[in-house]
Amino acid sequence: MKTISVVIPVYNENEVIKSSYNIIKKVLEKLTQYDYEIIFVNDGSTDGTLDFLQEISKENEKVKIISFSRNFGHQAAVTAGIQYVTGDAIVIIDADLQDPPELLPEMIELWEKGNEVIYGQRKARKGESAFKILTAKMFYCALNNLSDVEIPKDTGDFRLVDRKVIDVVNSMPEHNKFLRGLFSWVGFKQKAYLYERKPRKAGKTKYPFKKMWKLALDGIFSFSTKPLKIVGGLGFLTIILSIGILVYSLISYALNLNELVPGWTSIMVAITLFSGVQLLSIWVISEYIARIYDETRNRPAYIIDKKINIKD
Ligand code: UDP
Ligand code: MG
Repeated sequence: MKTISVVIPVYNENEVIKSSYNIIKKVLEKLTQYDYEIIFVNDGSTDGTLDFLQEISKENEKVKIISFSRNFGHQAAVTAGIQYVTGDAIVIIDADLQDPPELLPEMIELWEKGNEVIYGQRKARKGESAFKILTAKMFYCALNNLSDVEIPKDTGDFRLVDRKVIDVVNSMPEHNKFLRGLFSWVGFKQKAYLYERKPRKAGKTKYPFKKMWKLALDGIFSFSTKPLKIVGGLGFLTIILSIGILVYSLISYALNLNELVPGWTSIMVAITLFSGVQLLSIWVISEYIARIYDETRNRPAYIIDKKINIKD
């Protein structure tokens, strides 16, 4: 019998975890031709989410728990979860029921037809703020213009992935994985699955702007070196510009075209423009250096405090 593994990252989801567990369990139990396991990755919750998970893991040994020593972030949680899956098909889904678990049977059907990565692509985003929708749009636009691999737009981490692909992603040496990019980068038989993203069932988003910004930068800097090329282009452009200004002032001086007053404005503009360009360029370069530093330090992306119902 084939096994479906469901990976759910959870961070302070006390308000919704019970109903999402019940719904996901019901969907999986209806699929009688498959066995299942649910791996909850507790990303340092402080609100009793872990207590609830521990309780259900006693009643149901198919519920497995990986609990972090603190909050390491959603990507780290999913990265840990997929390390411990034992199934033939792996589903990554959020705990807040925004991605409806009822779609699993259809995704499994697509998998049985030979698709190896079935990624959920949102055709509507209900109950999300205009700000979130706008920033998400900008993010995918920037990402796809900058990135060297094509990362499908409006696609989160909600997906069903074949064991084979999970093994490949798990074997990637990098610590900090931008998963939706990696899943696209590895190739294999990919299939978009259009669905309507629902509003959060309960609780608040655990993705404040700061975390979204980090995710966006990770996506861009870990999948593209184009920003470096843009910096190079900017450098050339400013050099050409300053040569232009030099030529212009020499010609005006030689031909006495106009009186060159000691120009406060032009100096200020030049200073601020060029120092702005320089600082921006240094920032872009340092984003890469920070990532190189992070990876060479070789620290793990997460620390596991305890595992429940997981055999090593
Ligand atoms: N999450 C997590 N660690 C974090 C933030 C979020 O494990 O630091 C989980 C969260 O519990 C949820 C999923 O990641 O299951 C997606 O988070 P959320 O729904 O808050 O993000 P949004 O849908 O608002 O982008
Ligand atoms: Mg959500």
